[in-house]
Amino acid sequence: MSNNPFWSPELNQLKAYVPGEQPIGKEAASPVIKLNANENPYPPSPRARAVLADKSLIDSLRLYPDPQASTLCKTIANRYQLKSEQVFVGNGSDEVLAHSFYSFFKRPEPLLFPEIGYGFYPIYCQLYQISHHSPALREDFTIDLAGYARPAAGVILANPNAPTGKYLALEKIVQLLQMHPDRVVIIDEAYIDFGGESAIRLIPDYPNLLVIRTLSKSSGLAGLRLGYALGQAHLIEGLERTKNAFNPFPVDGIAQRVATEAIADQAWLETHCAKIIATRERVCRQLATLRFTIEPSLTNFVLAKPPEISAQALYLALRQRNILVRYFQQPRIDDYVRITIGTDTEMDDFLRACKDILTG
Ligand SMILES: *Cc1c(COP(=O)(O)O)cnc(C)c1O
Repeated sequence: MSNNPFWSPELNQLKAYVPGEQPIGKEAASPVIKLNANENPYPPSPRARAVLADKSLIDSLRLYPDPQASTLCKTIANRYQLKSEQVFVGNGSDEVLAHSFYSFFKRPEPLLFPEIGYGFYPIYCQLYQISHHSPALREDFTIDLAGYARPAAGVILANPNAPTGKYLALEKIVQLLQMHPDRVVIIDEAYIDFGGESAIRLIPDYPNLLVIRTLSKSSGLAGLRLGYALGQAHLIEGLERTKNAFNPFPVDGIAQRVATEAIADQAWLETHCAKIIATRERVCRQLATLRFTIEPSLTNFVLAKPPEISAQALYLALRQRNILVRYFQQPRIDDYVRITIGTDTEMDDFLRACKDILTG
């Protein structure tokens, strides 16, 4: 790869995140079973859908949206018994993460996050020139806190973790918060609705805790791009300062209104998460029958190691059959594929294809 002389030296070095592929154009026309980006197989809450059918939404588009997203923030705050000034919203949690890295982690010490985790963290470190250190996971992919007892710019981890699906108990999160009282500890809860207990209830006691959430996974709104952070008001104020130096109108007017209804519809969320959890447990049992090694997961995906065939070969064979799963060419997990939990029908097709590939 040669340098582009018009690009800054940093840009010439920058490596970008590679998301799970999104079939477009011709390929999208043939039915694809998409189990590679942890999207929700179910369309979003009917209350969210009703907003999009309302003509007043179109009329409102000539105006700039509310830069504070007040109604949305109030709705999120009410749901978690917090105040509006404890809520920050952004264009997907990826944007909230970007502002968090800039706001809290640009310091001389390294940022700490697990050896295997969300692929975006090292990329933001590179973008913002933040050094990082990644303590090793145990053999079973759980987090060993011993590696986190050292001077740091802060700590960030996904809980449950991705792509391992492992959950770290709240008392361990408390230990992390107490290890780093002068640094921000971010818990990225993209998958918390699929099991595990949220760290949100620790917010009143820990001024250094920031919890980040997204509507992309459990709310079935990945295309809307809405994420949020929860924490004490002084952290939110820091994020607001960064945001207002970058783009004061990140959350568009459509997203604000749709997200407000989605968040208010707690019943939809609970019903559909329960469905996905039930499907996940069934898929895990059936994969075990096919002699896959399964990592127990509290998310909407499972990490599974196929018997006899390599994970990459399985990924490619499934792809041939228009079934997309995620394969990471990365130490420790390159024997596994990550499979998003789809509908029961989709998962039956997937399981049948696995059986075919393994016996053929
Ligand atoms: C999917 C995911 C995100 C990104 O979510 P968006 O809100 O769609 O940007 C953040 N963190 C983790 C751990 C994720 O898996």
